[in-house]
Amino acid sequence: MKIQDIQAIQLLLATPKKIVIIPHRGPDGDAMGSTLGLYHFLIKNNHQATVIAPNDFPNFLAWLPGSETVKIFEKETEICTQILEEAEIIFTLDFNAFHRTGEMEHTLAKLKATFIMIDHHQKPDDYATYTYSETSYGSTCEMVYNFITFLNKKEDIDKTIATCIYTGILTDSGSFRFPGTTGNTHRIIAELIDLGVENTQIPVLLFDNSSFSRLQLLGRALQNMKILENHKTSYTTLTQEELDSFNYVKGDTEGIVNYGLSIKDIVFTAIFIENKDEGIIKISFRSQGGFDVNQFARDHFNGGGHSNAAGGRSEVSMQETVNKFEDLVKKLKL
Ligand code: 5GP
Ligand code: MN
Repeated sequence: MKIQDIQAIQLLLATPKKIVIIPHRGPDGDAMGSTLGLYHFLIKNNHQATVIAPNDFPNFLAWLPGSETVKIFEKETEICTQILEEAEIIFTLDFNAFHRTGEMEHTLAKLKATFIMIDHHQKPDDYATYTYSETSYGSTCEMVYNFITFLNKKEDIDKTIATCIYTGILTDSGSFRFPGTTGNTHRIIAELIDLGVENTQIPVLLFDNSSFSRLQLLGRALQNMKILENHKTSYTTLTQEELDSFNYVKGDTEGIVNYGLSIKDIVFTAIFIENKDEGIIKISFRSQGGFDVNQFARDHFNGGGHSNAAGGRSEVSMQETVNKFEDLVKKLKL
């Protein structure tokens, strides 16, 4: 972060402020961990802070400290709009373009507050007065740790803040496996554990807390998987009907996409998930090595993300979407 920006933010935060912190729509562990970590830090520093999420977060993150205070824009639009309009500072975390907040983008575009972006995705928009955007980081949570450190406030990081930050680093790094996980990441993790983070319990809460029906849904996704052998690619699908038949709840499909990369010699995978309510197919892409799925998602599926993990959407049928995907893959040199 630029030294002038740090100094300006220090000045801004020197007196109590009304602050809103926003994660992206469909918030994941990093989005919730980073916003709640920053929330606890700001409250500790006498600010009036509120996390407003565009839509609800999955149940497997509900144990995060402070999640009960999170306001959901989609559910309480009027009160959220009022809080947003009164805010002096707005932090946007783990995304870099207003459209990643869904319907909320129209409200955000009208606000006069000072925006501060902390994010690790590619190609940030320029809506923020202060932008801390670095694609080399594995998670926004790691950047929130740095941000608090830049402000000379590292001693404020207590077990609660550490727990939130730990969660996002863990989930966004694929449990410390993805590129972007550095020695520094592990040094931060070590400090967080020294602060009391329950590092053996958190993975259980996040990953070993499945309902039986979710495991069966995973089984269906694995059975639906197709391999495009000559193209080192796999993909799978889940229709709305399949989701319904396994009593799908938000969060149940989280992580399923990664199984497609666990097959020998596969370097590119995708999962296509039908959402009848929104009339779209939501897509997740993952790659191993040099193939840039962020670019692929941007070019063909109205999405984006990182070079090895990205997402997008399609507004045509499952069959048409999958056909388009197969046609594109057959033209790739993987
Ligand atoms: P996931 O597949 O886990 O939903 O998302 C993987 C990464 O891609 C995350 O960093 C997420 O923020 C980003 N991403 C997912 N869907 C979209 C999308 O529709 N648009 C953009 N720009 N990024 C997305
Ligand atoms: Mn992230």
